[in-house]
Amino acid sequence: MFLSPTSVPALLALVFFVPGMSEGRMDFEPDVQATAPDQPLQAPLIFQRFEGVLPITVPRREELRFGVYLHLGPLGDPMAGEFVMGSGSEPFLRGLPLPGSSLAADERLESGWVHTRVTGSALGYKLDHNIDVRLLPQAWPALIYTDTQRGSENRRRELRLGQIAGKHIARYRRDHHCGGCERAEHLVKGLLLSRREHHCEDCDRLEHRVWRAESEREIPPGAIDMLSAIYMARSMRAVELEAASFAVLDKLELWNTTISMGERRVLELPAGRFACRKMVMETSSADEGEGAFSGLFGIHGEIDVWVHDPSGVPVRIAGAVPLGPFDLKVTIDLRSYSGTPADFAPLAD
Ligand SMILES: [Zn+2]
Ligand SMILES: [Zn+2]
Repeated sequence: MFLSPTSVPALLALVFFVPGMSEGRMDFEPDVQATAPDQPLQAPLIFQRFEGVLPITVPRREELRFGVYLHLGPLGDPMAGEFVMGSGSEPFLRGLPLPGSSLAADERLESGWVHTRVTGSALGYKLDHNIDVRLLPQAWPALIYTDTQRGSENRRRELRLGQIAGKHIARYRRDHHCGGCERAEHLVKGLLLSRREHHCEDCDRLEHRVWRAESEREIPPGAIDMLSAIYMARSMRAVELEAASFAVLDKLELWNTTISMGERRVLELPAGRFACRKMVMETSSADEGEGAFSGLFGIHGEIDVWVHDPSGVPVRIAGAVPLGPFDLKVTIDLRSYSGTPADFAPLAD
């Protein structure tokens, strides 16, 4: 079944019945009776965006920890790093209320956040890569995506989405090496004879990174960043939607993306044996430009994402990643988890 605008209102109603969270109930009150002590007591934050657009399901205190396993042929499959993916919610303050007014109960708003981090080292290359999303209950910015890489390379990217004057807008900026700027504190001493103070041409010093000018484009209402797309896909599982199409932004490039549910398989993972389904992602450029789609953390090529069925919790991601000058085949497998939906559990032996 593909997502069509007419099916969406029914879909939104169904999304409130997130399996294992508030079974058979239309509200978000935790069902304490039905919840084991080690399970979260709260339903996920369902982030509604626009009519005709899948909501984003944000578990309130979930953490998934994965191992990053390299495939080095005769050298084996060592674990080279860790990938952590967590989400939560917090109160959102719209600014101070005007004098004489008070905040009504229904104005107590919430924002959602998703944090992912890859740390590791391989072949002398160190990586500490963070991608964060903030979902805000306001027109602009409604979503802030930041991508920060530390370690052997340092760079930052920021994408903001939302509505300005009724138009759906994306704004993107990235940093670069400030080469030759006037700041006295950026001067470094030469290593050779002269030891003359100068500004380097290029380096990986964090303090030499400055923002470039921001660029902007108009986007379709449902367009979203790649990390939020994963949490949007979790809304798909909650309503047993077999496929959905939406636009995904990589920097300011738009990609028509279809996610469909593929084969079923039981996967053996460090966290246990899980009943899974393959999520098949197809992308084609929505712009004139050519080029290849590159996913989160630069994962590219044949990207396989396996999610637990029925919860939609991602348990395995396989593909190729760029690691400095190298292109390595990796499998990212779930090792431990907390705060997951009640129906997320390994199979009994
Ligand atoms: Zn400088
Ligand atoms: Zn420099």
